[in-house]
Amino acid sequence: MQPDHSDWLTFDRRHLWHPYTSMTDPLPVFPVVSASGVRLKLEDGRELIDGMASWWSAIHGYNHPRLNAALQRQSEKMTHVMFGGLTHPAAVELGRRLVELTPEPLQHVFFSDSGSVAVEVAMKMAIQFWYGTGRPEKKRLLTLRNGYHGDTFGAMSVCDPDTGMHQIWSGLLQHQLFAAAPQCRFDSDWNPQDIDGLQRLVEKHHQELAAIILEPIVQGAGGMRFYHPQYLCEVRSLCDRYDLLLIADEIATGFGRSGKLFACEHAGITPDILCLGKALTGGTMTLAATLASERVATGLSGGEPGVFMHGPTFMGNPLACAVAVASIDLLFESDWQSQVAQISAGLEAGLAPCRELPQVADVRVLGAIGVVEMKEPVVMAQVQPQFVEQGVWVRPFGKLVYVMPPYVMDGQDLARLTSAICRVVAIT
Ligand SMILES: *Cc1c(COP(=O)(O)O)cnc(C)c1O
Repeated sequence: MQPDHSDWLTFDRRHLWHPYTSMTDPLPVFPVVSASGVRLKLEDGRELIDGMASWWSAIHGYNHPRLNAALQRQSEKMTHVMFGGLTHPAAVELGRRLVELTPEPLQHVFFSDSGSVAVEVAMKMAIQFWYGTGRPEKKRLLTLRNGYHGDTFGAMSVCDPDTGMHQIWSGLLQHQLFAAAPQCRFDSDWNPQDIDGLQRLVEKHHQELAAIILEPIVQGAGGMRFYHPQYLCEVRSLCDRYDLLLIADEIATGFGRSGKLFACEHAGITPDILCLGKALTGGTMTLAATLASERVATGLSGGEPGVFMHGPTFMGNPLACAVAVASIDLLFESDWQSQVAQISAGLEAGLAPCRELPQVADVRVLGAIGVVEMKEPVVMAQVQPQFVEQGVWVRPFGKLVYVMPPYVMDGQDLARLTSAICRVVAIT
């Protein structure tokens, strides 16, 4: 059924919520009918070079034959089966890969259906760990300002209080502790004072703290900031010294985006609990995973109930697991490190002209992530159609115009993407 254009867009406008969008007065959305490689095809036939990789996820580009084949093969066997009391090869294959490619202490995998749920699971694991090891008073979390960990209630409680709009939920969110966001940039000199604020909070509150949760190196949706690896080393050693678990939310950074397979590798540290999502299936299906160390998994099994209290209906969905296996294999067969390095260089060169513009506050690049931070928030109604007219898909938020292209984008498309950004930013 090919619905008539005005009809389906009208229906969408009247009835469908889009992310962080008004239901009563939404901005227009652009109708996509297919996507292939690094291009999105609009209904009117125009093609856009995709700078967003569908929010960090489509690292191999769209409509990839290998990923499609994995889905098709799995769909011929079974699309889903409950995970309670049952298991299947796709989940085992994926679990095996995740245990192998993450640091040695992370041995236990919990599959869930989205990043936010993976964060909820991580927080519950941390709290249940202290409960199971006889310290039930350790149940608060410490996190960083400018962080983003998802939209469900537990996850929201550790999102930046301002951008996460905590005032709307006052009284409903768990009251967590927030340290100032790290100030030392990724590529600047380390200033030991950067950790002071967090250290003071740890010293004061460690008795009641279960864990520190943070996005390693790259703070994503809360500000697109890249901080110094030494900060992460300091956090790890504070966690060890004061008996706190460290939860690394690598939902955005996992699978090579920051230039390392996992952003924690920039600091050479291992978390006790690791959250993965987004690029896990190469952007094909919704799937997330929370990995826990042996110590956490055993600890949380102590006392009553002795089991981990979580179990989504679509846990370990076979289609999602099968395509995640294919995506990981594809990543390792590709030379992703040089692809990411080339994108990094292309973003540096291509976005450099923005540095000269008076309306631009900062330009920064790490791995395959490029950010142009404006002095004022962009007017979405104005810039979104301008990007589309330039033939690219870029979705800014607030003051941030940023891209994280599929790793397979070639130099020519990347140059078109960055010059479109420079042109739009220049007239903003
Ligand atoms: C996107 C994101 C989440 C939430 O994932 P969803 O799949 O949107 O629920 C959590 N943490 C980080 C760091 C993210 O980037």
